[in-house]
Amino acid sequence: MSLIVHKYGGTSMGSPERIRNVARRVTKWARAGHQIVVVPSAMSGETNRLLALAAELAPQRPSAAYHRELDMLAATGEQASSALLAIALQAEGMDSVSYAGWQVPVRTDSSHTKARIESIDSERVRADLDDGRVVIVTGFQGIDELGNITTLGRGGSDTSAVAIAAAMGADECLIYTDVDGVYTTDPRVVPAARRLHTVSFEEMLEMASLGSKVLQIRSVEFAGKYRVPIRVLSSFTPWDIDLAEEMQSGTLITFEEDEKMEQAVVSGIAFNRGEAKVSVLGVPDTPGIAYRILGPVADANIEVDVIIQNISKEGKADFSFTVGQADYQRTLDLLREAVAPAMGAQEVVGDPNICKVSIVGIGMRSHVGVASKMFRVLSEEGINIQMISTSEIKTSVVIDEKYLELAVRALHTAFGLDQQTA
Ligand code: ADP
Ligand code: ASP
Ligand code: MG
Repeated sequence: MSLIVHKYGGTSMGSPERIRNVARRVTKWARAGHQIVVVPSAMSGETNRLLALAAELAPQRPSAAYHRELDMLAATGEQASSALLAIALQAEGMDSVSYAGWQVPVRTDSSHTKARIESIDSERVRADLDDGRVVIVTGFQGIDELGNITTLGRGGSDTSAVAIAAAMGADECLIYTDVDGVYTTDPRVVPAARRLHTVSFEEMLEMASLGSKVLQIRSVEFAGKYRVPIRVLSSFTPWDIDLAEEMQSGTLITFEEDEKMEQAVVSGIAFNRGEAKVSVLGVPDTPGIAYRILGPVADANIEVDVIIQNISKEGKADFSFTVGQADYQRTLDLLREAVAPAMGAQEVVGDPNICKVSIVGIGMRSHVGVASKMFRVLSEEGINIQMISTSEIKTSVVIDEKYLELAVRALHTAFGLDQQTA
């Protein structure tokens, strides 16, 4: 008998009919003799609906108190879907109980709307499993040491599931979603994208951090730290599909680099539409510029991604970096009001219509010329590169958002990732 964690995303939980299908699939697994913990997301659209209501009523200057209430609010989406799933399981004749994160408890730090899981007490869940129940634990949430409900950031149910799997020493964590695995790039943008049977943990980590939202980055970090085997698979196959077939379907995140993987220089292409560029122009080119600009940005808890500083002309330099779109206005205000005047910069300008496109592959370690091929492909398409950043197994470029699809498709073809059509 194995212990398996199932996670179902919002679309998979999107209607009573879909919840019934989830219940039937889970029942099939439980009746085959497995202990099952299910981590559901809120029904699709529900988190957005709740957050939009809050935005309508939000104070002018949102404070920590506001973010606390956002978590109280957003966490209800998963509480509702979890209870509905427990009811659907009971209707299938399966003994089942649901718990909100705070009841387990899933303990987190106090960073409202982007809390980090610190520990999970698995005793209560284990006792129910041992009594033959399917246990449902709400995704996306926990409780801090003062008893406040917290949430883990958008897409956080993936992280809840992997963290629970790690805490319970589960044999596998199955992430059921609306695509049938991890693809070479988002199949909704490139129809020729290919499903990967396996993807290395390191590549998945890069792809998730570079914008492939199929897995939340923190879930991959957890999987790496605790060596939790993760499989991404479809919740849209018939629920009564043969169990052995289902166990082999989708994409397995592996911790071993096999020979086949080494052959693919670029394994996938990730992109992120959610960034914006900010530039401080005409900064005196003296030691400490980066610190004087980025220090206050970091103090304001704004995460910075790609950074470049242009060569100076007549003692003045331009300094640009990207931030998440949600932080764009706040960053501009901060730089214009406090930072730029204090350092005698000429101007602060911004562009919210940029995106980041990245090629990822562990094969890049041992092959030269991969980045230059990327730049050539983009230049042949007439796409201007605004910023570049590289690491051992990825190269990212920042480009105008209107070229996103063109860039991803051209790179996908050029690096031989398109599906072979017979
Ligand atoms: P869920 O609600 O199940 O958590 P998400 O919408 O968060 O689902 O993630 C699944 C989506 O991720 C897919 O519908 C797909 O559009 C997108 N996606 C982005 N990059 C990839 C990729 N490389 N492989 C598969 N899906 C991807
Ligand atoms: N419901 C949350 C969201 O929409 C968490 C999740 O789906 O993983 O972001
Ligand atoms: Mg998701």
